[in-house]
Amino acid sequence: MPEIKDLVRENIQALAPYSTARDDYDGPVGIQLDANENPFENGYNRYPDPHQKELKKLIARIKGVTPESVFIGNGSDEAIDLVYRVFCEPGRDNAVAITPTYSMYRVAAAVNDVEFREVPLSEHFGFNASGLLEAADDRTKLAFLCSPNNPTGNLLDPDEVERFVRAFEGITVLDEAYIDFAPESSFLPRLAEFPRLVILQTLSKAWGLAGLRLGLAFASPEIVGYLSNVKYPYNINCVTQEIVARHLTKGPEEAVRRLVKERSRLLELLPTLPVVREVYPTDANFVLVQVDDPGEVYRRLVEGGVIVRDRSSLPGCAGCLRITVGTPAENERLIQLLGQI
Ligand SMILES: *Cc1c(COP(=O)(O)O)cnc(C)c1O
Repeated sequence: MPEIKDLVRENIQALAPYSTARDDYDGPVGIQLDANENPFENGYNRYPDPHQKELKKLIARIKGVTPESVFIGNGSDEAIDLVYRVFCEPGRDNAVAITPTYSMYRVAAAVNDVEFREVPLSEHFGFNASGLLEAADDRTKLAFLCSPNNPTGNLLDPDEVERFVRAFEGITVLDEAYIDFAPESSFLPRLAEFPRLVILQTLSKAWGLAGLRLGLAFASPEIVGYLSNVKYPYNINCVTQEIVARHLTKGPEEAVRRLVKERSRLLELLPTLPVVREVYPTDANFVLVQVDDPGEVYRRLVEGGVIVRDRSSLPGCAGCLRITVGTPAENERLIQLLGQI
């Protein structure tokens, strides 16, 4: 199996990263005349910590990993872009992924001029390691898996995920954006077993902090080091760092409990509606629902003031709408409108 270094682009291996004014000295400082900041205090006049030291310590403690294995991004989307920039030579290397899945993997591949190979999930959106391994060749640097998967909602079979990660010679990115809804299925406690694995999580879903933009990547200190060298120095602003630190004292468990309860109600009610053909099993905070005429159902819901996501053009998702679990009142309105179709 290749070393991490051998997977990293040569220009990134050789990169002398930008060093900030505070990198040279981080002892107690009285007078800061090193960074051309405005000295008049208003709460925001100083640059934020580019290494997010305090936040990484907090997150590491909550997640049971070392701070050195935590990368903090401006949303998971930053980490997705960075893995391409670190590992994929534009116009030459490629990435493989399951389909249907989160579309940012494909968009970020296109932005970075990286060929993107999609391998359909099997029936019932099941994941089979062999198909994805067959799509890879000696120019395949990245593989994207998402579990629970967006937009299908299901967890991928953990044995197949493990089989893939062990056999694939590149970097596997396992996106666990929805793992707070199925915490016992996370691969994070086993991170150290898999040197070429990057696990993505986010505060945008169960934690309820989408507006602050904070995504997490967990990987070996070596991989985290490369991601950190390539990121913008001040990628997480001081307001986000402060507010997130405060919110981390209360976990997502209460929101998860309420949403899972609402999800059960939707899973009971949706199949009883004439317009609904199929409701797919879900381990996330959304439900994939198949109807006869998704365009018409979408329009009728919008007329009633409810917006859902039309996913019917994705492979294997004919007729499918993706519906986020809302508040009890919001879900009530959804069911009422669907009942009128
Ligand atoms: C919502 C979502 C994310 C989160 O992205 P952020 O940039 O952290 O808000 C990541 N991956 C998947 C699959 C998602 O659905």
